[in-house]
Order: sequence, then C-alpha cells, then structure tokens
Amino acid sequence: MKTKQIVLTSRPVGLPTLHNFRFEEVDLPEINKGEILLKGMFYSVDPYMRGRMNDAKSYAAPFPLDQPIMGAVVALVSESKSDMFKTGDVVVGSLPWRETFITSEKGVRKVDVSTIRPSYYLGVLGMPGLTAYFGLMRIGKPKEGETVVVSGAAGAVGVVVGQIAKIYGCHVVGIVGTDEKVKTLKEEFSFDEVINYKTAKDMRKAIADACPKGVDVYFDNVGGEISDAVISNINFHARVVLCGQISLYNATEVPMGPRIQPMLLTRSVLMQGFIVSNYQDLFLEGTQQLTEWVTQGKLKYTETVEHGFNKLPNALLGLFTGENTGKMVVEI
Ligand code: NAP
Repeated sequence: MKTKQIVLTSRPVGLPTLHNFRFEEVDLPEINKGEILLKGMFYSVDPYMRGRMNDAKSYAAPFPLDQPIMGAVVALVSESKSDMFKTGDVVVGSLPWRETFITSEKGVRKVDVSTIRPSYYLGVLGMPGLTAYFGLMRIGKPKEGETVVVSGAAGAVGVVVGQIAKIYGCHVVGIVGTDEKVKTLKEEFSFDEVINYKTAKDMRKAIADACPKGVDVYFDNVGGEISDAVISNINFHARVVLCGQISLYNATEVPMGPRIQPMLLTRSVLMQGFIVSNYQDLFLEGTQQLTEWVTQGKLKYTETVEHGFNKLPNALLGLFTGENTGKMVVEI
C-alpha cells in the first residue's frame, strides 16, 4: 500500500517557506502483531514545531531532514493486529505527517468521540488546553478580583487561559493582532478588554487603560515588545507565566529589550518558564477538569480548520502570521 507523506527537506532561516517541505509517496510495510493501521483525521500544527525545524538543542529533538514531520494527530483505526484496539476506534498520538500509517499499539491512546469533537483532543482537551490549565493554575495562581493579561489571546492556549481566569472571577485582558479577534474574544469568550497590538499606538498606555488596577498575572505567549509593555504595568507580587515567545521564533538575531530585572526585584514579581510536560503526571487531573468545564459549557472553544493533507505546511506557516482563531487543525 502506498501513502503520501510530508518531510522536512531543509532547515529554515527566519520565517519558514513551503520550500522547506517536500511531498512524497512511500510504500507501507505489512502490519505486524501489536500494530495498527491508521488513517489520519485531524492533524495539529503548533508553534513549537518551528523550533524542531532548527538543528538546535531544545526540550524537543530537531526533526531529522528527509523524514516525515511528527506532530499530534487524531486518527481512525482502519485495521488492527492489536488486542488493545479494534477497527473504527479513534486514537490520538504523536504521529508522522502521512495520510495512512502503521504504528505500535503503545504509541497512541483511544479517545471518546461519542460526545466530544475528535479535534478537541488536539486543542482544548489536548496539549494546548493542558498548557493553559497548568501554566495558569500552578504558576499564575489567579485570585478573584485580580487582573490577568494574556498575549496570543485568540490562539489555542490563550483562549483557554482567558476563560479559566474568568471562571476564577478575574478581570481578563487579551492581546491579539486583528480587530476581528478583539470582537470574538469580547463577544463570545467573555474577555473584559482586548487590545489589538498591531493598531495600538502606545502599548504601555493601552495596557494601563485596560488594567486600571495594574497587572497581577501575565500569561506570556508571545514575548518581545508586547511583553515589555505588559511588564511595565506589573503589580507588586505579580506572577509572570512564561509559556511561549512566538514573536522571537523566526528571529535571526537576538533582540535587545529593556532590562526588566530591577522591576521584577523591586515589585517582588515571580517570573517562571515551564514546559507542559513538566506536569505529565497530572495530565489526567487536568483533562478531567477541562472536560468538565467544556461539558458544563463554562469553557468554549473555537478552531480554524484547513481541509486537505496538502494544506499542512500552509497551516503551520499561518500560525506566524495570525491566520488562526483558536486551534489551527487540518482535517482530512
Ligand atoms: P496559537 O496562539 O494558536 O497561534 C499563534 C498565534 O500567535 C497567532 O495566531 C498570532 O495571533 C500570534 N502571533 C504570531 N506571531 C506573533 C508575533 N510576532 N507577535 C505577537 N503575536 C504573534 O498558538 P498556541 O498553540 O496557542 O501557542 C501559543 C504560545 O504558547 C506559543 O508561543 C507556543 O510556542 C507556546 N506553547 C508553549 C507550551 C509550553 O509547554 N510552554 C505549550 C504549548 C504552546 P495574532 O493574530 O494575535 O498575532
């Protein structure tokens, strides 16, 4: 049997382009005992994949050249030689960018799609949702009445952070890159204030105006000048959750920012980075809580869905130009 796959063909310098990817057809081997044949349904594209395109040491190993890109995929079991899965089951795992693939029964887990949309296991009930939950609850520790600012607020992680902060009774301020996202977060996701960083003339003032009592928790998804402006409004004993720095992922030089340490010191601010896998032992607890909020209607979610396997590289590149509202997924 043949299948289409997408490999990394060269390492990008700056913003990746379609030339960094190659489509090819490969033969699949026979399925052995303990293996399953899967057909991809939903493929996740995530900002951390940009880091894996570099040949640099990080928490996730670089993608090898001329090998299929790996990412989170929700897939349908179309043939099984495993006692753990049967044909028709839906599974999720870190899988290759192939239309059809064979994997060990140990590499995936079955998910319940009777009441939950399958793609939610890539978003609100997957890695981004858990990132929002653990980053906010374990580091941000929001308290009722506090002001929580989240950058990248209309993305897969940000939209969950803002809503959890609302559940905890906080004044929630989002930062996004389009007026449409401003409207969506205010009207559909109950954010109190949302700032468009592309049109705001003075970000420091825009944040000061949106946060009259200052910033108690900053959930940082983007870094760079946006974060400099938020931190200049930070309160005594505030918590800064360093989740992502997407504004720097395609930088070819290290940018120079203000020295923020004196401000953190004099205002007794905690700033902590984290990787969601730090909380791996608690994923069950996190997934249960997120599922409960989703089923109770307290946590809403939105997705940008691209259609067709060939769209995967474009969808990944689109994260860096703000093409998505909520989780970006590719549906086959
Ligand atoms: P996402 O927000 O769904 O997609 C990225 C969004 O970032 C875009 O839609 C865009 O929205 C914004 N953006 C892109 N380039 C930007 C720039 N130069 N300046 C400001 N905003 C920019 O991605 P996500 O999955 O929720 O991830 C958000 C962040 O969390 C990323 O930095 C990611 O690496 C990080 N993350 C960390 C962990 C962890 O374990 N620490 C886990 C998951 C994700 P706009 O239209 O608003 O610009």
